Amino acid sequence: MPRFPGPETPIVSSRTANESCWPGALTGRSVIRKHQCNVRASRRSAPFRRCRLKSVKDWRVGCLFPLYANGAVANIQILLRMDKERKLIVAGNWKSNKTNSEAVALVMDLIRELAAVKEVDVVVCPAFTALSDVSKLVLGSNIRLGAQNLSDSVYGAFTGEIAPGMLRELSVRYVILGHSERRQFQKESDALVAKKAANAHANNLIPIVCVGETLAEREANITEMVVETQLRGSLAGLTAEQVESTVLAYEPVWAIGTGKTASSAQAQEVHAFIRKVLVSMHGEAIARRVRIQYGGSVKGSNARELLQQPDIDGALVGGASLESKGFVDIIKNSI
Ligand code: PEP
Repeated sequence: MPRFPGPETPIVSSRTANESCWPGALTGRSVIRKHQCNVRASRRSAPFRRCRLKSVKDWRVGCLFPLYANGAVANIQILLRMDKERKLIVAGNWKSNKTNSEAVALVMDLIRELAAVKEVDVVVCPAFTALSDVSKLVLGSNIRLGAQNLSDSVYGAFTGEIAPGMLRELSVRYVILGHSERRQFQKESDALVAKKAANAHANNLIPIVCVGETLAEREANITEMVVETQLRGSLAGLTAEQVESTVLAYEPVWAIGTGKTASSAQAQEVHAFIRKVLVSMHGEAIARRVRIQYGGSVKGSNARELLQQPDIDGALVGGASLESKGFVDIIKNSI
C-alpha cells in the first residue's frame, strides 16, 4: 500500500528512507499542529519545497506532505529534526589557542550567552592546560567539555600523552580524534585513530572522529574513496553500539581555516555517502542514529543552511569558536 497519497513519487532524503511517512497517516500532523510549526509553504503546485519546522522534538521525517490550501495542492518536503535520535551537536575546537585565563573568560561568556539553549549539544574543546579550570566553570551548565586528543593507552610510561582517566576526572565527555591537522602534522594513521577511539569508548569518552579529503583528492574525484577508507579504518574494531555513539565529523581539509566552505549541497552529498557506508558497516538502524558534524569554515552566516541539510547533524568549528559572538551566532542560527 503506498504510504504517500497523491500522484507524486515519494521523494525522501537519503537518511530518512526508512523513516518516511505521511504525517496524516501517523501522528505527524497533530505534532505539527501542536507545535505550531513554522511551515512556510508556497501554494504553487510545483513538485515540492523544503521547509523547516521548529519546535518538534521527537521527529525527523522526510516526507511528502500534500497540503490542500484554497484548492491548491502544494507538495512539501518536510524535514523534521528527530532530535531524540540525532540532536544537533556543535563543538568548538580551540586548537592550540587560548591561555588558561583566556579560555576561562571565553567560556564564562558562552555560559551566559547560551544558558537557554536546549536544542543543541554544545561542546567546547580547549587546550589541555585549560581543561581543569574550564571544567569547574561548565559544571552545572549546558556546555559540555571536550579534549583535542587522547592517548591510545591508559596510564604508564608514555611521555607527553594524556590518559583517559585524566580526562574523566575533569568531567571531559568528548574527545576529538583524527583531526586532519593531527593526521598531517603528527602523521596519525587510521589504525591509530581506531585504537584511540576504542580507548575512548572503553573509558566512557565519546570520540569525535574526523575524516575529510584534501583539495587534490577532491579534484581527482576520489573524495568518496578517501572518506570511506578513513571511515572504515578509523572505526575498525568498534562494536556497533560504539559506532552508534561515536560522533563523526566530515571536514574537507581544503575548507579548514581557509574561509572556503563546502556548499551545503557538497557537504550533504558526502554526509549522505558517509551514512551509506555506515549502513553497509552496521545496518540502517545504527547508521540512522550516528551524528555527523560538518567542519570547515563554519560561521554564523553559513551555519543555518549547512545544518538544515538532512544528514548534517551539527558542526565542528575552529576559527569562529575562538570568540564568543562567532560561536554563539552559529548555535543560535542552527536552532
Ligand atoms: C577545524 O579545525 O576543525 C575547523 C573546522 O576549523 P575552521 O572552522 O577554522 O575551518
